[in-house]
Amino acid sequence: MTQSMTLMPTGENAVRALLNSALFNLATDTLAATHERFIAELVGLTEIAAPPFKEAQRAKAYRGLLEACGLQDVEIDVIGNVTGIRRGNDGCGRLIAISAHLDTVFPEGTDVTVRREGYRLAAPGVGDNTRGLATILAFLRALDAAGAATRDDILVLATVGEEGEGDLRGMRHFFAESRHRDCVAALICLDGPTPANMIVSGGTGSKRYKVTFGGPGGHSFADHGIVNPMIAAARAVVDLGALTLPDDPKTTCSTTVINGGNSVNAIPAQVSVMVDLRSNSADQLAELDERFHEIVQQSCTIENDTRSIQKGAIVVDIVLIGDRPAGQTADGELTRNAANAVEAIGLAPVFGSFSTDANVAMTLGIPAVTLSWGGEGGGAHSLAEWTDVDPATTLPGMSVGLAVLLACAGTAI
Ligand SMILES: [Zn+2]
Repeated sequence: MTQSMTLMPTGENAVRALLNSALFNLATDTLAATHERFIAELVGLTEIAAPPFKEAQRAKAYRGLLEACGLQDVEIDVIGNVTGIRRGNDGCGRLIAISAHLDTVFPEGTDVTVRREGYRLAAPGVGDNTRGLATILAFLRALDAAGAATRDDILVLATVGEEGEGDLRGMRHFFAESRHRDCVAALICLDGPTPANMIVSGGTGSKRYKVTFGGPGGHSFADHGIVNPMIAAARAVVDLGALTLPDDPKTTCSTTVINGGNSVNAIPAQVSVMVDLRSNSADQLAELDERFHEIVQQSCTIENDTRSIQKGAIVVDIVLIGDRPAGQTADGELTRNAANAVEAIGLAPVFGSFSTDANVAMTLGIPAVTLSWGGEGGGAHSLAEWTDVDPATTLPGMSVGLAVLLACAGTAI
């Protein structure tokens, strides 16, 4: 434990000074010494299934683990997020939040037994994002062992509903309702697998729709000439595919699922299409969203103008099934600390944009990044998911998140 009370410098040198300190060395030595415990906790948490909208059992277990780490005010909120606080010295209520999501994409009944071969762990959800949850526990132990007293409070936040149709519901709820929400000075999300040098400082926004074209339907021969929802849907698909979209900020429009019709000799009464719109820019996403609505309406109009509507016209029902805001963390203390921490392990920082829990904070103007939990992995969202916990590659990666957390929360070194 360090006795020196030099206040950590801020600015350019903050992370470098921290990384060279006895305190940080003690913290990373602790990560190394407790690595098997980290693996055991990762395995234990992975084997508690956390399907979409059913994270409660894992949340309860995580609450117990945070309590065992000595956090204060550990609680589960009404939506199922787990929070706990490691108190800082300042008592001014400023919080640095570190988060990982509880949910996986796998439905109830999926076999989540972890198969371990050496340092390779395989199981659905083991990497994305159970490893984030276990990494935070390892960080808390390392901070305690190093006697790290921070200026700001550290808030641990394990969220529900990050994946797919969860649509960031846990993080949205936190920033809408939590009593801590106004105190968060920065948010560090751990998620992966991503390379250890990746700093996600942009939040890709998305809008997802299910578009259903309905018509009268009829006999393919006897009723030929009536409007056909399949033609309206097909026209919309082709026109959406013909949109010219910017590469920078990257903006995309994908038609992804189509359903409809029930017989080769019947004009369908219903055809539905799923559409995924994304952009790294909120303005571009709004513009694309407007174009999307115009194209869908226009394809109905053209079909109604082209064929007979005597038995009924084409009507369209557009249902928003996903809505993630786009955002960006401006260059500042958080991004600088992250870049310096990545450089300190000999890698070149790469800034990127993805859609993660951090999006929510970014749109509120709160500095937020998503960092790797360190270490390699693959097969995310598949039954073949795996993650590698070899300490040789894992420990340097883990030190990045720990350094950023400590640098942002401020500590005497
Ligand atoms: Zn994830």
